[in-house]
Amino acid sequence: MTSIQLKWGMRSDVGKVRQINQDAVMANGALFVVADGMGGHRGGEVASEIAAKHFEEVVSVPSGEDLAKAFGQANHMIRSRAAGDSNLTGMGTTVVALAVVRDDTDEMHLASANVGDSRMYRLEEDRLVQMTLDHSLVAELTRAGQLSEEEASQHPQRNVLTRALGVDDEVMVDHWLFPAIVGHRYLLCSDGLVNEVSDDDIADTLREFDDPNDVAEALVEKANRAGGRDNVTVLVVDVVDGSTSAQ
Ligand code: CA
Repeated sequence: MTSIQLKWGMRSDVGKVRQINQDAVMANGALFVVADGMGGHRGGEVASEIAAKHFEEVVSVPSGEDLAKAFGQANHMIRSRAAGDSNLTGMGTTVVALAVVRDDTDEMHLASANVGDSRMYRLEEDRLVQMTLDHSLVAELTRAGQLSEEEASQHPQRNVLTRALGVDDEVMVDHWLFPAIVGHRYLLCSDGLVNEVSDDDIADTLREFDDPNDVAEALVEKANRAGGRDNVTVLVVDVVDGSTSAQ
């Protein structure tokens, strides 16, 4: 019988242009989160940090709905913090999260959820699949057939989000559930990676290294070599057979 385990590695870097890193990342073996904050002054930094800290306190995720609920709680925390400090007005953050689901089935399941344009991908045997939909203006125009992928990548408003935590009292969260399959590798990342490095290059790098820390380091390096115009955060999670890796 196989015992499934997760192995992970992560890097978050300010990049080559910005002065502060407004991304946040957390991983504790049961929950994996990347958040990309926005808002003037210290706002973006504070919003992504509130979200990451909140997820650190989530002890168990019994379902995708519970993961989505944690997004709602983080949303309220960001809004109440902003309401009490005029320097933080308008702050918000994206969040993409992957969680081990604690339910009563024998199989290990994972839940994922996202708001904004931070992404999750899955590397399967022969392909890289983007699992999240970006909640951004250009992504929505692209899905509606009004922009090509090429036009979207050059669009002056490509940073405009249609959903984020911190913006409204209620936030719509996409979430879903799937079995953990040995051999799958997940990538959670901020847009500072995908705006600098192509999906093909990301896929090659995910295949090149065995250790998830080496992948994270290589991807951040690639984003910085391509210009590093934004903060870049990469979190790589591997589903492995624990009965062999524990030896
Ligand atoms: Ca960003």
